[in-house]
Amino acid sequence: RCVAASASSSPAATAAAMEVPATMKAWAHDAYGDASVLKLVEAAAVPAVGEDQVLVRVVAAALNPVDAKRRAGKFQATDSPLPTVPGYDVAGVVVKVGGQVEGLKEGDEVYGMISEKPLEGPKQSGSLAEYTAVEEKLLARKPKGIDFVQAAGLPVAILTASQGLEKAGMAAGKSVLVLGGAGGVGSLAIQLAKQVYGASKVAATASTKKIELLKRLGADVAIDYTKENFEELPDKYDVVFDAVGQGDKAVKVVKEGGSVVVLTGAVTPPGFRFVVTSNGSTLEELNPYLESGKVKPLVDPQGPFPFSKVVEAFSYLETGRATGKVVISPI
Ligand code: NDP
Repeated sequence: RCVAASASSSPAATAAAMEVPATMKAWAHDAYGDASVLKLVEAAAVPAVGEDQVLVRVVAAALNPVDAKRRAGKFQATDSPLPTVPGYDVAGVVVKVGGQVEGLKEGDEVYGMISEKPLEGPKQSGSLAEYTAVEEKLLARKPKGIDFVQAAGLPVAILTASQGLEKAGMAAGKSVLVLGGAGGVGSLAIQLAKQVYGASKVAATASTKKIELLKRLGADVAIDYTKENFEELPDKYDVVFDAVGQGDKAVKVVKEGGSVVVLTGAVTPPGFRFVVTSNGSTLEELNPYLESGKVKPLVDPQGPFPFSKVVEAFSYLETGRATGKVVISPI
């Protein structure tokens, strides 16, 4: 199908499609290690576009702890070969479409998580680059009223929050405790529990300076972990959502028959490990909540970091103190 000539392509979008160069700037590493292994490559190959893929001109990308863990070599056994261009989260503009792509065209503003399974053969050429190739099914329309910086911070975090709550059996009238409520995932887990699932009570943990933020996000109970141990408090929850790695303590505060979903660290029964899967339709289903403002992206105020400052941005993310998402833009 000749997309460049389709009636709905704007002249600007068509021009952009014709301007795709052969090489691009990209951050890459050819060894595993700390953030210093990352190098800015001036002329990396622009990835080829598969039949079911689109090429996205990256406007903004966000960092996730999984990028840092992957770079450190934690998933070597199932990683794609080096050199790696990191980055799972993207927001940008479609500039080229594969032959089997039906729903997207050049000029469309999209966002998504670029690898379906983050730990099993993730893409070698990620989103910390001027262009990235992504399966159409992993992308969604960028929500109206959400800018590229905000959109880039959403995919991994909101998919993790949504699928994790779903797997834990979250439903209207249930109570939930979110461990790590001020992080990328936790800030969305609080909002989704309240706004999408209709939780009867949302509690969350963070350090002192972030307690007001937890309340603004919709937490009914905000627990300052520098002052109280949540596992020693009398309250029990239907669902505990662990975004910190406190699976051993999390199981102490779940009700009989409740669920403990563990994103990281050791799992203590009845807690269970959950790993996110990328999916554009889930993002599409969540778009109305983002467009109405019921669910708000939380971008760390230290950012967005310009493309030249990716190493600094990783160092900041890796302090474990980020508030919401660490975003890279413009790219
Ligand atoms: P972030 O880097 O965004 O989390 C940072 C936040 O964690 C900070 O705001 C910090 O708040 C908070 N935090 C740190 N320690 C504690 C603590 N002891 N109690 C409460 N809050 C704490 O990370 P993400 O939200 O992106 O990810 C969270 C974890 O989940 C990571 O380990 C990540 O790898 C994992 N993950 C797993 C996925 C999966 O599919 N299994 C998917 C996505 C993420 P403060 O400064 O107040 O301490």
